[in-house]
Amino acid sequence: MPIVRIALDVPLPTLFDYEVDEPVSMGQRVLVEFRRRQQIGVVIEGAEKSDVPQDRIKQVIRVLKDCEPLSENLLKLLKFCSDYYHYPIGPTVLSALPTRLRADKPIVVKKRTGLRLVRDPSMLPARKMVARRIIDELAKRPCSPSELRRLAPTAGAQMKWLEKEGWIEPCELKESYSTPSVQLANAHTLTQEQQEAVDQVLQSKGFGCYLLHGITGSGKTEVYVHLMHRILERGGQILLLVPEINLTPQLEGYFQSRFPDVPLVSLHSGLSENARLENWQQAQAGEARIVLGTRLSVFAELPALSLIIVDEEHDGSFKQQDGLRYSARDVAIFRASQGGLPIVLGSATPSLESYHNAQIGRYRLIKLTQRAKAESRLPRMGCINVNQSVMTEGVSERLLGEIGSRISRGEQSLIFINRRGYAPVLMCTECGWMSDCRHCAGKMVLHLKDRKLRCHHCGSQQSIPSSCPGCGHAGLHPVGSGTQRVESLLQAKYPDARILRVDKDSTRNKHAWKQMREQIHANEVDILVGTQMLAKGHDFPALTLVGVLGADNALYSADFRAAERLFAQLMQVAGRAGRADKPGEVQIQTAFPDHPLFRCLKHHDFDSWASQLLSERKMAGFPPFVFQAMLRAEGKIESEVYAYLEKVRALAIALQREVEVFGVVPASLARRANHVRAQLLIQAQSRKVLQQFLRDWRIEEIPHARLHRSLDIDPMEF
Ligand SMILES: [Zn+2]
Ligand SMILES: [Zn+2]
Repeated sequence: MPIVRIALDVPLPTLFDYEVDEPVSMGQRVLVEFRRRQQIGVVIEGAEKSDVPQDRIKQVIRVLKDCEPLSENLLKLLKFCSDYYHYPIGPTVLSALPTRLRADKPIVVKKRTGLRLVRDPSMLPARKMVARRIIDELAKRPCSPSELRRLAPTAGAQMKWLEKEGWIEPCELKESYSTPSVQLANAHTLTQEQQEAVDQVLQSKGFGCYLLHGITGSGKTEVYVHLMHRILERGGQILLLVPEINLTPQLEGYFQSRFPDVPLVSLHSGLSENARLENWQQAQAGEARIVLGTRLSVFAELPALSLIIVDEEHDGSFKQQDGLRYSARDVAIFRASQGGLPIVLGSATPSLESYHNAQIGRYRLIKLTQRAKAESRLPRMGCINVNQSVMTEGVSERLLGEIGSRISRGEQSLIFINRRGYAPVLMCTECGWMSDCRHCAGKMVLHLKDRKLRCHHCGSQQSIPSSCPGCGHAGLHPVGSGTQRVESLLQAKYPDARILRVDKDSTRNKHAWKQMREQIHANEVDILVGTQMLAKGHDFPALTLVGVLGADNALYSADFRAAERLFAQLMQVAGRAGRADKPGEVQIQTAFPDHPLFRCLKHHDFDSWASQLLSERKMAGFPPFVFQAMLRAEGKIESEVYAYLEKVRALAIALQREVEVFGVVPASLARRANHVRAQLLIQAQSRKVLQQFLRDWRIEEIPHARLHRSLDIDPMEF
């Protein structure tokens, strides 16, 4: 009986041999028994014979034919990910599939059905106007019902009538969807810069990676839309990757409105299992022409994929932080090179990795330096020196005054502080007691609204003690500020102002954020207080002031990427101000107004900032000039965690490769939920050297029974 090698969701870096007594294709899903449990697997390859003794080889229980096998291209992409990220092939393949495809539950396959003409159209009564238009359309070629429905509002009813009367009948639509002309709604004339950007990408022969670096308001989206239009006209599919799950419904609506007659689906973890499967299948069938999604959509089946766009390519959410720790941006680039197609990475503040690659010519740089609407201006940026200002609970008098003048003019203000809760810590003024979390190395955050101390790392909570647990003193004081505290301060200052707080706590309810956006747009809000949720991609036309609190935290951070991220975040949040005809203003509270970060920000000068950071990184030997892998381990017993890491570290050194092996150190949060966490960093001058080293290191052979360990290639968090 033939042998097949199957990927299973098992944390072992191998495929599993089974016998199969019926024809089976590569990429097909099968039901097998593994360790006395039935599991879904994917056939990866066939084999002549197996190394497993004959009497121990099991037979495939069932070959699942309820949907198309995975394509060779997708399997190749997944194998690449498994190799590059040193993550077992089984979980890599299975985690790329929609949940429904990982379960042994029959799937109803939606065949792409169309309609075709069966009777001589000349016999149709002349008064049947809409029916006539349907018939005329079908005389050219079979069409899908959705295409026909667009012909007239009553087309649906007429189609039913035509089918009942025997004029038309359902048929399978095999040929790829291609409309001779794709409608592009509300097409603006492009600026010269935008047009050149579009032309450059379209001229791409085969693979090309383009970094589209456009200032806020330069109309990157319009470039995307025009590119997509041309690709759609050629019959291609497009993958549009976006960072934020909160933004996908809005973006979906936007792109659908620009391409009203093009089937578009979204893929993200917020969809129901059935919806995700259905969208995935539409993409796989080639029916969906545009797939818009968060990082997981990089693994969508797209048989006619012709263009990939990664919007906000610098965004950290493209990196998966558990399981297969992939960067969707980097996987997308590999996918484009594998498929020989262009990929566009768009950003106003590119990641230093991409920016560097553009500078050394690996990517092609396309710059948009002008705002698309001539009348709109970039917001004015300034700093408020907190050492020279009168401060009330962390907010300067000057900023309070600016907010007041906006209220009187009927304009909106946004106060940006990247910390939720009331205060990051509660402290005793007598003995110095602080609200440490019992389970973590962090502090419990004061949430005054629901009278709780809550740990943002492990989720544990307790009520606020009425007196100090250390000395019994009654005077416990909140230290520092979070969104709730700023909200109550502003409410006390401006009792009549309508204040809206936008953070993870206030938007827990599914539709809350959508309602809030509507409130903001209806100008029912005077002051917005919020975290980075507010920074991303939302246009608030009445907003003219952005105040930034707590920016200096990033300057003290141990993470070398903190300043890079802060700059991007502040540019993004600044982009919210003055989008309409009113000029915007940004005021950043800081103790270091002369810091290069703020100086470059004032002049909207990303290039100077980036080249300064790059030369620092080069001197210090940080990415993008070196390539890193981080081995993390955590467990209940400290000595076990460290002994394990020291052991694999010794192995790394013994290999004597051209890699730098750092010491074992505590993670930035050294204890979380009662688990001790430590890490080991490895770094090399080239990806190739690092990858070869990781293959030879063979850490999967070192037992780590009671530890949770993970290897993170190109880590983003330190
Ligand atoms: Zn005390
Ligand atoms: Zn905790």
